[in-house]
Amino acid sequence: MNMHIPLRVLQEGEEAAVSSFSPAQDSAVLADNHGRRFSYLRLSITDVCNFRCNYCLPDGYQGTDRSGFLTLEEIRRIAAAFAAMGTRKIRITGGEPSLRKDLPDVIRTLKQTPGIETVALTSNGYRLTQQIRDWADAGLDQLNVSIDSLDPQQFKAITGHDKLQEILDGIQLARELGIRHIKVNAVLLKAWNMNSFQHFFDWLRTTPVTLRFIELMETGDNGEFFAANHVSGDSVKQTLLSRGWTEKPRGPHDGPAQEFSHPDFAGDIGLIMPYSKDFCSSCNRLRITAQGKLHLCLFGEQGYELRPLLDEDDTQTLQQHIRTLLGNKKTSHHLEQGETGATRHFAMLGG
Ligand code: SAM
Ligand code: SF4
Repeated sequence: MNMHIPLRVLQEGEEAAVSSFSPAQDSAVLADNHGRRFSYLRLSITDVCNFRCNYCLPDGYQGTDRSGFLTLEEIRRIAAAFAAMGTRKIRITGGEPSLRKDLPDVIRTLKQTPGIETVALTSNGYRLTQQIRDWADAGLDQLNVSIDSLDPQQFKAITGHDKLQEILDGIQLARELGIRHIKVNAVLLKAWNMNSFQHFFDWLRTTPVTLRFIELMETGDNGEFFAANHVSGDSVKQTLLSRGWTEKPRGPHDGPAQEFSHPDFAGDIGLIMPYSKDFCSSCNRLRITAQGKLHLCLFGEQGYELRPLLDEDDTQTLQQHIRTLLGNKKTSHHLEQGETGATRHFAMLGG
């Protein structure tokens, strides 16, 4: 059966994916010792990737063990436990999640979990045109696609793949299928895409997507590249403000991205500035790796093994364990001091 069900149209501000919890429910919501509430889970389903983004996997995927990723049943148990603790949005990520053949089943399983309102996916989009219908049929609500340059040659130089036009066609198809809230992620790279920055603005004039500029983050593997290519998000923010973009009001449950709009542009711009002061105070997300480890921070020193608790369908015990682990979550990362924790590259845990 290949029914094309139009994707649900999401409203602005739904990024945080928090429904209004009633006071009675509130006590059960996952919260840390610093008053932050976690309604958003980033779930990696594979760490394998077919791209060679120069800031992430410049030599391509080096792992040999392609087995051992979370099974569908383990994913279902994780989703059920988090949903019971107030998680309303799950983003599927990787590596490249679309390399998993059962991705539509993963989407469907998450979408059918009571309490999960939004299922999102981050992908490099390399087979978007072929796969988006199946994802839509399975119930995908939200799509983020990474495009670091709108110059085809530059795109190829950054990712190792000559796929820009195909990916743009895939985004167009996603829009035709009913996704109105598509985000495009672009990492700011001094020596690569900053000289073609204008392409992004030209594109946004007529394209109703949110383009999110992400400040390049240092990881264990990319120190030299980071030193040569980091551009402060604040300099981009000043450019936006000087060109008439205005910052959108933030909702109480919004994540760390700052969002901007402009009356002459169909699209919006988001800025993710992990080096800015107070970035961590609005943290609303936890992460799980494809091997089932809970990471309390993208730059934490360790992941906490959940797998032994996934053997049985015991949501209560799993919830209790996660609540206990959350006590270890620190107020902030120390990325600005070059402390990248255990993260060698983002393909390890999904960004
Ligand atoms: N492969 C998929 C993709 O690229 O969209 C999903 C995984 S990827 C790790 C998730 C996001 O992290 C992408 O938007 C990517 O550009 C971003 N990313 C990877 N390494 C990064 C880094 N060192 N600094 C900032 N963003 C990074
Ligand atoms: Fe792969 Fe995404 Fe990393 Fe690029 S950023 S190498 S597409 S995991």
